[in-house]
This record gives sequence, C-alpha cells and structure tokens, in this order.
Amino acid sequence: MRFADLVAWYDRIEATSKRLEMRSILVELLRATPSKDLPIVLYLSQGMLRPEYEGVELGVADSLARKAVVQATGASAAEVTASVRASGDLGTTAATLLEKRPRLDTAAPLEVEEVYAGFTSIARASGEGSQEVKVRTLVDLLNRATPAEGKYVLRFVLGTLRLGVREMSLLDALGVAFADGSKEARSRIEAAYNLSSDLGHVAATLASGSLDALSSIGLEVGRPVRPMLAERATNLAEILERMPEGAAIEYKYDGLRVQAHIPSEGAVKLFSRRLENISAQFPELVADLPRAIRHKPAIVEGECVPIDPETDEIRPFQEVSRRRGRKYDLDKIQDEIPVCLFLFDTLMAGGTSVMDRPLPDRRKELVTLVRPTDRVRLAQQKVVHDVEGAQTWFDAAIADGCEGIMAKSIAAGSSYRAGARGFWWIKYKRDYTHTLGDTIDGVVVGAFYGRGRRAGGYGALLLATYNPEEDRYESFCKVGGGFDDATVAGLPAKLKSKEVAERPKGLLTELEPDQWIEPHFVLEVRGAELTLSPIHRAGVGKIRPDAGLALRFPRSTGKWRDDKGPTEATTSDELVTMYRAQVKQAPARPAAPES
Ligand code: ATP
Repeated sequence: MRFADLVAWYDRIEATSKRLEMRSILVELLRATPSKDLPIVLYLSQGMLRPEYEGVELGVADSLARKAVVQATGASAAEVTASVRASGDLGTTAATLLEKRPRLDTAAPLEVEEVYAGFTSIARASGEGSQEVKVRTLVDLLNRATPAEGKYVLRFVLGTLRLGVREMSLLDALGVAFADGSKEARSRIEAAYNLSSDLGHVAATLASGSLDALSSIGLEVGRPVRPMLAERATNLAEILERMPEGAAIEYKYDGLRVQAHIPSEGAVKLFSRRLENISAQFPELVADLPRAIRHKPAIVEGECVPIDPETDEIRPFQEVSRRRGRKYDLDKIQDEIPVCLFLFDTLMAGGTSVMDRPLPDRRKELVTLVRPTDRVRLAQQKVVHDVEGAQTWFDAAIADGCEGIMAKSIAAGSSYRAGARGFWWIKYKRDYTHTLGDTIDGVVVGAFYGRGRRAGGYGALLLATYNPEEDRYESFCKVGGGFDDATVAGLPAKLKSKEVAERPKGLLTELEPDQWIEPHFVLEVRGAELTLSPIHRAGVGKIRPDAGLALRFPRSTGKWRDDKGPTEATTSDELVTMYRAQVKQAPARPAAPES
C-alpha cells in the first residue's frame, strides 16, 4: 500500500469530529488495506509501532526531528523555528517547507511498509551513534515524502499524531469491514482482543479467514490478557443479594495489579493493569516467581503491595508507586521498599488455560500452583453465605491494612472474563462510608491558570470520564482542591507534552479551560456527591435529556493513576451507576450550576 494513500485517509479522519463518519472512513481504510499491511495500519493509526505491551517507543526528541527537517528541506534552523511558532506543529512546518523544496522526479513513492521499517529502525537505534542513525533515517524518509506524507511522518515520530482513533472505534470498524457489523461479531472480535491485547494480530487473523478464525487466538505466555474488572456495591447486603450461591470474599490489597507470565524456561514477564511490561521494576518478583510457581508455564494475577519485612505489615500504596517507572537504583529501592505479590487468580496452570473454569476451581488450581515465599503469597480468601460472615471478613481485611474486600461470585458461570467489568466481582471499600462512596479516576482534559498563590502556573484541572460506547471523553468536574504545593508547582512541567491548541477530539464539555490537554493523565479524585449539571457532560442524557453528571466539591486524593491509560479511567456509565446508588439513599438534588 502506498503511504500517500494512507495519509489521504488520515486527512479525512482528521477532518471529521463525528464518530460515525470516522467509523465509516476507518471501515473503508481497513477494506482497502492489503492484508500484509493490516497490522501495520492498525498500529500506526493509533500512533504506535507495536502493541502497547511491547513498550516500543520511537524516542525522537523535538530537536532531533528539527535537525532532520533542516537537512531534508534545506531550510535554516531559524526558518524552521519561525515556521513552527506560526503553525504550532513541526509536521505542518515540514509540509510547508517540503512544498518549497525542489523534489526529485526519480524518487520512488513511499510504501507503508518502508515507512514502518524506517520507524522501526529509529526505535531500535540505541547507544553511541544512535542520534545520527535516527536523523539519517528520518531525512531519507523525508527526501522521498510528499508534503502531506512529511507532515504525518513528523507527527508520528514526535508522538503528536492525534487522529483520535482508539481501540473502541477500531473494534467497531473491524466488525463492519470483515464481518456483518452485528453485535455478536463485535463481541467476538473484542473477546479476541481481550485475550491477545494485540489489535494488529486480531485484524490480520480476521482478514485471513472469517470470524471463526478468531478462535485460533488463545492464551499465550508473554502476551498479556486484558484484566477482568469489578463493579461496585454500596453495602454488603447488596453483594449477598447479587451472589445468592455465596461469595468468595478476598482481601482487597491496595497496590499495583500485576499479571505474571511464568514460562517453562526463560524470563518471567510482569504486566501492569494497563499491560505495560513492568518486569524491570520488580526484579525480586521476577526472581522469586519461578520458585513460587510449581507448574509452568503459568499465568497468574495478583496485587503487589509494599510490605514491612520486619513485621509483615502492609505499607501505604504510595510507597509501591514510587517503584513504578523507576529506571535507576533498582537494587537500592528494592531493599528500601520491599514488596509482596498477593496472588488472587490463575489464568493458565501448567500450560493449560483455566480461564473458562469457575472461580472455585481456579482458586483450587492456584492453591496447588503456589508454593508461598516471602515475596509471593496467596490472597486471603473465605467463602461466606451471609452478611455477618462478610462483615467479619471485611473487618479483618481492614485490620490487616487492606482497603476493603473483593467479593467474587462462586457460581457455575464465574469464569475469568478478560477485559470485562461485571458483577462477578464486586469491590467494596472502607471509603464507602464517605458520602460519595468510591473515588473516581478522571482523565485530565484541560487546565485553568492559577490565581493568587497559584498565579503563573495551573490552579485547577478539568477532568472527564471515558464513554466507551461513544468512544469519547465527557467532563465531570473542575478540580483545584486536594493538591499539595509540590504537585501544583509541578503541573505545568507534567502536562507540557500533552498541551494542545485545540479541544481534543471526542471530548464533550461546556467548559472552556485556559489550556486543553490531550487525554493521557489519570487522576484520582473524591467528592461529596454527584449532581445533574448543564455544563458537565458525563453520562449526558442517561438520567435527564440535557443534563450530564458533575462531582460536587471534588478534591484530588493525590494519586496519579499511572497504572491506567485514559480509556481505563472511570467510565460515564460507572458514574451513572454511582449517581443512582446515591439517589437510592437520598433524594436527588436539582441540577446545580456547577463549574
Ligand atoms: P478498576 O480496576 O475496577 O478499574 P481500580 O483500578 O481503580 O478499579 P479498584 O477500584 O481499587 O481499582 O478495584 C479493583 C482493583 O483491586 C483490581 O484491579 C486489583 O488491582 C485490586 N485488587 C486488590 N485485591 C484484589 C483481589 N483480591 N482480587 C482482585 N483484585 C484485587
């Protein structure tokens, strides 16, 4: 496929803000893509080179990209700087400058595969001389690029390709392009994606056969499965009502979710909740797991929490979050902040997938599988049949330093449902004694300039929920409270790389912040209650036709949810459920003029 064709589709996608229109453009694009290019097109359109769990990054700095533009166009560095100042984007600048450059008629048109190969060698270049390799590769691509192609090459390598194409739209489009577009087709495609976490692979499989071909996609050690997620309940009685067969009540440890892949031979891989490979950050778990797991290969899941090695007490979550994303002094921090992985599920044991088996069977497998060590243990679990039993176990969990319990169904259908949120698992936290039970994980989509003590920086953030049905973000609060001084001081630097001139694509809000922020950061907030709002758009129309939901008196809990990507933030539907649960307890308030 010609790269020029692909960027022509991108121009069309960029020009639309309508979801359905975007979907039909994507369908056309997928149908027009030869099967060998399909995975590449799937990755590139999301601004990635490989599925996210492989963690492949291009690593092209702005200065390096500018150097390449200078070399390829013959413009001076000053001209490039002036042009970027005017256009706000090095991609647009490259297009303008390439337009002026005399183009070699003999230059062969770029193929998608060649551009992808170029990006791959840029990503692979490391160590001495790597900067030169990156610049040279970019210059080679730009020398052959049309202005439109040059624009996208630059945006891609800089990570500023903002087409707004996300997984949900791609799953929809795949269902229409390669199946009958029905709900059933969509859910089978999504199931294959939940198992493999690789949309490129799913697309290629689908294109090579029919929907049935997807059944060839199974569990694979080293390839993470999208995690099963829990619903909420407001009290223990509700949990028991939903689980009439009884419930397996587990401690809800407050740490980082880890999916561990233990091969028969070779290195253990650890994946975070958002499927990043975090093996390097927890070398002691990587070392201990092969000893702790009897039958390999295996895939197990657990929560990694900081622990006091002297007393065995669980330490606050913040400590383990300091270990995430850490690249240096790993040995030192391993002693400073020791962790323990409490395993609560198994997806594969001794090479056999056990995902489809009910929870009690999986628990049995897990108990047989695990030989507990200092670092790797089993999550506490007890099966209860009444509220009293659940309450006793809840109290024990709190006393042991946990944030609550996870109640899990033990019914015949209680299989592991990858990527799905449902009442098979219900979380119930101590915080539910607050006015508004749970915390909300909001996506930062805008920032407001600070006043008074916060002048010169940002004073508040605009937060949104994610709406997977519509594949869009919907605002629910402006939060300025709860931040400590250091966080406020660090906001401009933290948000800088995601500042955008225009409202991000697929964002609904009636508020206009001083600065729009591309959805990326997820912040945990707590508030007094949810109200109907004419300004905020979370769950708009779900409760009342023209009203969305707003969080009153929001405060940051200080926790950045780096383990969640923006599409894993609290969903609009979850907010609607929380609103309804709250209304059940107290009469609804009228719509408040929330800001
Ligand atoms: P969610 O995962 O539902 O989006 P979240 O990431 O904000 O929400 P919580 O609301 O705290 O997390 O609840 C679910 C999480 O609890 C799981 O993803 C997992 O990380 C953690 N957890 C702790 N103990 C357990 C357990 N025994 N079983 C399952 N999950 C557990």
